[in-house]
Amino acid sequence: MFYPEPIAKLIDAFTRLPGIGPKTAARLAFHVLRMKEDDVIDFAKALVSVKRNLFYCSVCCNITDTDPCKICQDKSRDQSVICVVQDSKDLVAIERMKDYQGQYHVLQGAISPMEGIGPEEIKIAELLRRLSDEQVQELILATNPNIEGEATAMYLSRLVRPFGIKVTRIAHGLPVGGDLEYADEVTLSKAIEGRRELS
Ligand SMILES: [Zn+2]
Repeated sequence: MFYPEPIAKLIDAFTRLPGIGPKTAARLAFHVLRMKEDDVIDFAKALVSVKRNLFYCSVCCNITDTDPCKICQDKSRDQSVICVVQDSKDLVAIERMKDYQGQYHVLQGAISPMEGIGPEEIKIAELLRRLSDEQVQELILATNPNIEGEATAMYLSRLVRPFGIKVTRIAHGLPVGGDLEYADEVTLSKAIEGRRELS
């Protein structure tokens, strides 16, 4: 009510982003006001483009602009291992290590009874479909080392048991309660190297 409507609308839009309070939103909105028009247009186009030009890979459910995604297209990668992660940022964190050469499956979330997210809300059915089709020998569960991530890993290990596939969980040493994407490369590399088979 204190700002002209266009600015108030932009502030409101920024506050809908995670981790942005009203003060930061106002600062960002006024920053946009001072930006060159071309830069603002590029910024707006980038925002629209992530919605219009990106979708889930039909194989691994990673966010992609080609289908299958570049990783699924790469036939030089090991087809016998699938590393299961919660989201695309975790995949990027693991790719950055350049150690892992297998496939991925991106769940696009984790099971969270607290937030009402059940197994049907994430990409578990898509994973099971891959297990019956493909020559998969090992599933590495690389969900986050927090309550939701552990619950998801336990659920998956039970679900996958009938397929007779080796199921491993990345080692601890990752900060408990933490987020995979923020782990440094050495910690992440060790966590995957030290993965244990779930019984
Ligand atoms: Zn893919």
